[in-house]
Amino acid sequence: MNSNEIALVTGANKGIGREIVRRLGARGFTVYLAARNPGLGAAAADELAGEGFDVRFVQLDVTDVDSVEAAAKQVEADSGRLDVLVNNAGIVSEWDVAVADITAAQVREAYEVNVFGVVTVTQSFVPLLRRSPNGRIVNMSSGLGSLDLLSDPDGRLATQGLLAYSSSKAALNALTLVYASALRRDGIKVNAANPGLVPTDLNSRASVSRGDRTTADGALVPVLLATLPEDGPSGQFRGPGSLDEVIPW
Ligand code: NAP
Repeated sequence: MNSNEIALVTGANKGIGREIVRRLGARGFTVYLAARNPGLGAAAADELAGEGFDVRFVQLDVTDVDSVEAAAKQVEADSGRLDVLVNNAGIVSEWDVAVADITAAQVREAYEVNVFGVVTVTQSFVPLLRRSPNGRIVNMSSGLGSLDLLSDPDGRLATQGLLAYSSSKAALNALTLVYASALRRDGIKVNAANPGLVPTDLNSRASVSRGDRTTADGALVPVLLATLPEDGPSGQFRGPGSLDEVIPW
């Protein structure tokens, strides 16, 4: 498939982000594999390019405004526009800490990447997305950010919630809805994906079972949202099994 479209995925040197790059590459996209670590990012991009995909490394730390603006300038110089932005980079800052002991510094650390990082990247790339006939932003959220699921007093999330992570993803969901409204007039769709639980470095310190879903399973819905047609939906929270799977906000 040759789409001639251009995508950028943050935090894509490993995990689900890397698999999203591979799948967009397989669909004929030119994909900027963005990573904060130049060695890891370039190695991942080289490996995927070696599989025959048009994958290009760009250095980008979502907490470093200068690196984000430099990456946007690089994409503009090389490609002139962006069709798809996947805000994938994310962290958990609080393993092995009881909720009541979590500090504001730990919450701030998670928000720097999961919330403020998304705003920094989105703000820098919207001008390039406006040049696309079908701009799409996919925010990598989580079921842990669903206020509906968190508000179930008998639910697993109410007892095992991650304060910083869950609230950062709830904030990301709110960003998704506000951006979706504001950017509708520009023809840019903004949706949130729930990749579902996938064992990756992100949750390697989790004490509960991480199941056996693969990064390919986790990449499924983000890629479907990244490749929505012009008349596709915006302001939706979908996954992990299919686009028909609606998660309550
Ligand atoms: P992962 O394997 O740990 O990958 C996270 C990626 O984010 C890494 O490439 C990491 O780079 C990058 N990153 C962290 N801080 C960054 C920063 N400041 N600037 C740029 N990149 C940064 O995790 P994953 O499981 O694939 O997670 C991908 C996304 O899916 C995250 O947003 C996560 O919250 C979400 N998600 C995951 C699951 C799951 O079960 N795995 C479930 C729901 C949602 P380094 O290698 O340099 O650290």
